[in-house]
Amino acid sequence: MKAIYVGSCPNCGGEEEDGRLLEGLPCTVCFPFKEDPCRLREKLSSRFEAYCRFKDKVREFEREN
Ligand SMILES: [Zn+2]
Repeated sequence: MKAIYVGSCPNCGGEEEDGRLLEGLPCTVCFPFKEDPCRLREKLSSRFEAYCRFKDKVREFEREN
């Protein structure tokens, strides 16, 4: 059984399934893919895109230190 969380999609703020949340994926309405969202940034909202930029910075920091 899967659960739907209202207002939980990290990309559009819509309804989100528990399984996709666990996988770090936005909902199927705004992001109907099973790929790492940061690899398809043109499909992301500015809010989610900011998260990807933050992840890039962390990766960059880890490489340099
Ligand atoms: Zn969504």
